[in-house]
Amino acid sequence: MTRFKDLVDAVYKNNPNADIEFLEEVYRFAEDLHKDQYRKSGEAYIIHPLSVAIILAELGMDETAVAAGLLHDVVEDTSCKRSGIADHFGEDVAFIVNGVTKLSKLECNSKEERQLEIYRKMFLSMAEDVRVVMIKLADRLHNMRTLRFQKEEKQRAIAQETLEIYAPIANRLGISKVKWELEDLCLRYLEPEAFYDLVERISMKRDEREEYIQNIIGQMTKELDKVEIKAEISGRPKHFFSIYNKMKKQNKDLDELYDLIAVRLLVDSVKDCYAALGIVHTLWRPIPMRFKDYIAMPKPNMYQSLHTTVIGPNGDPFEIQIRTYEMHHTAEYGIAAHWIYKESGGSEISKDNSQLSWLEQIKEMQNEASDSKDFLSSLKIDLFSDTVFVFSPKGEVYELPQGSGPLDFAYKVHSGVGNSCMGAKVNKKIVPLDYQLKNGDIVEILTSKQAKPSLDWVNLCKTSQARNKIRQWFKKEGRDENMQRGKDSLEAELKKKDIEPSAVLHKQDTLIELANRMGYSSWDDVCVGIGNGSLTALQVANKLYDEYQKYHKVKPQEETVESLLASKANKEVRRKQQDSTKKGTGGIIVEGFEGIPTRFASCCKPLPGDPVVGYITRGRGVTIHHLDCPNIKGGMVKEADRYVHAYWDMEDSGIYQVEVFVIAIDRPKITPEVMSLINDSKVHITAISSRVKEGKTYMNISIEVRNLDQVILMIDKIKSISDVLEVKRTIAD
Ligand code: MN
Repeated sequence: MTRFKDLVDAVYKNNPNADIEFLEEVYRFAEDLHKDQYRKSGEAYIIHPLSVAIILAELGMDETAVAAGLLHDVVEDTSCKRSGIADHFGEDVAFIVNGVTKLSKLECNSKEERQLEIYRKMFLSMAEDVRVVMIKLADRLHNMRTLRFQKEEKQRAIAQETLEIYAPIANRLGISKVKWELEDLCLRYLEPEAFYDLVERISMKRDEREEYIQNIIGQMTKELDKVEIKAEISGRPKHFFSIYNKMKKQNKDLDELYDLIAVRLLVDSVKDCYAALGIVHTLWRPIPMRFKDYIAMPKPNMYQSLHTTVIGPNGDPFEIQIRTYEMHHTAEYGIAAHWIYKESGGSEISKDNSQLSWLEQIKEMQNEASDSKDFLSSLKIDLFSDTVFVFSPKGEVYELPQGSGPLDFAYKVHSGVGNSCMGAKVNKKIVPLDYQLKNGDIVEILTSKQAKPSLDWVNLCKTSQARNKIRQWFKKEGRDENMQRGKDSLEAELKKKDIEPSAVLHKQDTLIELANRMGYSSWDDVCVGIGNGSLTALQVANKLYDEYQKYHKVKPQEETVESLLASKANKEVRRKQQDSTKKGTGGIIVEGFEGIPTRFASCCKPLPGDPVVGYITRGRGVTIHHLDCPNIKGGMVKEADRYVHAYWDMEDSGIYQVEVFVIAIDRPKITPEVMSLINDSKVHITAISSRVKEGKTYMNISIEVRNLDQVILMIDKIKSISDVLEVKRTIAD
């Protein structure tokens, strides 16, 4: 049976200087008021507020909150009124109890309405005093722990509400300890069969898993000792609800889920976090794309940690979380951590991260306030003062900076909603787009397929997110127009130089290389650049002219009937070619980095179809290597997070037409010999013409190739035929 002494123990643990006499007085007061009341379990009612107070104390809350926890049900369930509490224990305690009481009194018709109302009031009271919400969470946690005494119908309803409202709020406040316990309890009542099945199966393999974890911990400790990093390592299965969720989401059985366990590494400093990560990655191969740096980019609820998934000793992947002790404390207790975690001082969080503004504010307040009372009263005022909480008509909560309008809301929901916004309703009334949202507003965005953003929206938006999305829309919308304009002026510029545009614009490889050299990821982007004025057509035409020169030092033969015929054939080929090159998209797709400039590694020169991998360079885009390239063997393990999946864009399986000009000493069968050599190389000949003049044979051969290398190889081969004097690639007119 729970006793007042248990509360004293819990309070002392986090707060050795607590005023226990005061708390005892509060306890006696509450006990007296509840004296004839009993819970469904048959226990005296006071056990419930006492248990709530203990939860609050365990979370490190201050005396005021603990006292309010003891009194949280008296206004609603006994004859005592707010003023009575204020008279005995002060205005602070009375204010909080009153806030909790208001949260409990909800008159709503439908379940949805009730949920929306709870959510709304929760966030509004959070803005007034976070302790109100903390008590509500502790209250719900104790009720969930004792839910077995309720009727089954009620169990389900309460569990459902807990899962939809209270667990997400605990998450928003970063109190993962409470969030997890609530979620597991919900699962037990909402999906009892699945829950007990999971409990049984997970406990079944406990020994095996224990051994595996110990093995991992042993290896890690050994390596960390070598570099003198002190670390506390522990491994545990993830909590039931998250496993259950994963099974459902991925439609997999427990045995198929690989990351059932999470190994946690606690170290002293941020520096050690990254050092430990390096060691983990040399011990076991990390899975690309699974590394997350929440230290540099903390979650909005203040969570900080490094996450990586590696392939463990027996080939099973597992997740490792690396963080400092301080980060760990914040991860478990969230906002509550900041009531008690004052001495550390050494915050390693970057100040310019706006997501963390409320954490920064708490920290600043801690430094300024001389004692915890001061700190709390300033927290009450400042914590959420720069933020408004608004709601979608469905009851989803959105957090926006003070001064935000309907457009900020629309773009926060989805850029598609923003881009098709034609108006907004707040609390069911039409408002202008420059309306400033207030706490608790219900915002509905009216959309239409015909609606388009307008440039002056940028000035109506408070969030940079919305502004950027509007600018992006205008950039993209103007893109097609700019591209066409760019292409036109480039062609005009080329003609001024007497270059037939099709002669220089059909080689995708060259164009992409040229684009990359100019810092663009595709040739289309270069044309857009010309169109919007960031490049001049002359600049680009000059570059193309240089390329053209490389291949055109020699102007071919004088006009004869045969050469005219050949040239006519060439023109037809070229026309076809223009059609086929339009399909090209650049050749390589880098997963997760669409549009990033890519280059092919010069060491292994991968060709279309080769297995490839991308390497993220410092500032020069992604280099594509052949998967077997010896230069990357070591790096794939050491710097695994810089290697990314890449594959050939199959739409770019472009076949390119090339003309080769051959001069040979005229002898019998020289032309058939060249032709059969090309044929033997599995290269398709689309046209050939030859003529003889002054003892020499001149051949114009059109072939189909996939890339430049194939042409170079072909030219080399033809050169090796005896009596061949010269072989050149031609694109001439
Ligand atoms: Mn209660």
